[in-house]
Amino acid sequence: MRRQVSLEEISDGRLYGKNDMVRTDCGGCRGCSSCCRGMGNSVILDPLDIYRLTVGLSCTFEGLMTDKIGLNVVDGVILPNLKMSAGDETCAFLDAAGRCSIHAQRPGICRLFPLGRFYPPAETGTEDSNLRGFRYFLQVHECPMPNKTKVKVSKWVDTPDLNRYEQFVNDWHYFLEHVQERVAQEADEEIRKINLLLLKLFYIKPYDNIGPYDERDFYRQFGERLAMAREVLDLA
Ligand code: SF4
Ligand code: SF4
Repeated sequence: MRRQVSLEEISDGRLYGKNDMVRTDCGGCRGCSSCCRGMGNSVILDPLDIYRLTVGLSCTFEGLMTDKIGLNVVDGVILPNLKMSAGDETCAFLDAAGRCSIHAQRPGICRLFPLGRFYPPAETGTEDSNLRGFRYFLQVHECPMPNKTKVKVSKWVDTPDLNRYEQFVNDWHYFLEHVQERVAQEADEEIRKINLLLLKLFYIKPYDNIGPYDERDFYRQFGERLAMAREVLDLA
């Protein structure tokens, strides 16, 4: 989700790469679960998040839709997000002890927090998403834990094959950006068709898990689906 705020207002003014040290380590959260509550629809799930959840929890997208995730429109495109309970706005995966019950399968946004991703504006980069990329920034007003210590960004993000993951994040982000630009110009019926295609292709259609859990399986399947979607939607 794009935020219409200046980086200066919400960050320490720095941009970080995966090999930089950043002050995010809150020592295992020590009883705090503040970022698992009151997040509204903001924890948006990408196709890898759904792969991790469906394969890791042995469930389907439809199963998650019963009480764990919801669908909302983000800049014209329907995307899934973690569901907060109606009463106390608690994430559906937070357990009674205030801990994440799906730590190994938690979504990318949860892995990052309180880091965010900053994508350079188009005019300062290039149209080639491989050359644009993103940087990390520290959201200084989000995590209330005092005396956080420094940790390497790559360790904090806690994701296997971080180079491949960053490529995936980049590909998905710029693909969505193209789709969002496209739907802004389309009539309602075409927007409905595009949204249905994306939901089915990237979220509802199961990702086959071949052999032991291995995210390389996902990246291969995602690459094929992305190429298919670009072709069907006639996107570069
Ligand atoms: S707000 Fe900070 S300390 Fe609290 S649960 Fe989130 S990351 Fe942990
Ligand atoms: S998935 Fe886990 S870490 Fe993420 S908001 Fe829910 S309980 Fe918190």
